[in-house]
Amino acid sequence: RASRAGISGDRAQRRIGKLDRDRLEVDIGAEILEHVQGLSDQRLAEGDRGLVGHPRELATTDALTGLANRRRFDDALEREWRRAVRNQLPLSLLVLDADYFKGYNDRYGHQRGDEALRLIARSIEASIVNASDTACRIGGEEFAVILRGDSPPSVTQISERLRRQVAALPSAAPSLRPITVSIGAAVHTGHPPQDTLRHADQALYRAKNGGRNRSVLWEPPPPAPPARLAAGGVHAGQDAGDHLLLAAVVVADAAALVQ
Ligand code: GH3
Ligand code: MG
Ligand code: MG
Repeated sequence: RASRAGISGDRAQRRIGKLDRDRLEVDIGAEILEHVQGLSDQRLAEGDRGLVGHPRELATTDALTGLANRRRFDDALEREWRRAVRNQLPLSLLVLDADYFKGYNDRYGHQRGDEALRLIARSIEASIVNASDTACRIGGEEFAVILRGDSPPSVTQISERLRRQVAALPSAAPSLRPITVSIGAAVHTGHPPQDTLRHADQALYRAKNGGRNRSVLWEPPPPAPPARLAAGGVHAGQDAGDHLLLAAVVVADAAALVQ
């Protein structure tokens, strides 16, 4: 920037030094703000007695389970994403969904269903080792855990441990069927948080389709098979006539496939 402005030598160094200092101050400012927000979330999660009944706590806590609610989840995901980008660390997300929960309610009643949701929430809380991780209830029988900076293998381990922990829960009554959850996980570096959530959801969908009571880590779809176009020896610089001819070949191939 200094050279574009026609500044050179010591003056440029001084200018660059100031820019760096400014940027550092902005970074440190953001870091402090996030730290304070993180501390306050942590205190809320720990049920800090002094904050019970605080309007902010009430507005961001799920009444049934005491976990962070959807609103706090959205804020935390955004904040953790910004922190992850700044520190060039991955952001990991688990999305959990209780299996066949409609059937559970139909069979044992809504109250038993509520008890099961509370048991799942306690299990999730118990499985969180790092205070920086956030456990949330993001929908009816859906939960999420935001993990800070974990690698794919460790996220797989965490989500498997969590799944097993829920499956091993003692039922609220001996006659009740075990509660299980399916889990979708995504570990991303640099992707927008919406992508991480979408991919964790896709992995959850696969876990459900795979039979439920399982966890799946999102993986990018395999690369498309090499196009026949490439095999045909297309080179940069070919003229429009060649491309028309190639298009005709592709259409002919497609027609052959249909037959
Ligand atoms: P799947 O394994 O595909 O997730 O099946 P499912 O039956 O769990 O999914 P579905 O979406 O059909 O049903 C979700 C059920 O969760 C329906 C609803 O009654 C129940 N549910 C949602 N919120 C609550 C709640 O707060 N308390 C209770 N007891 N049940 C809830
Ligand atoms: Mg659901
Ligand atoms: Mg469900």
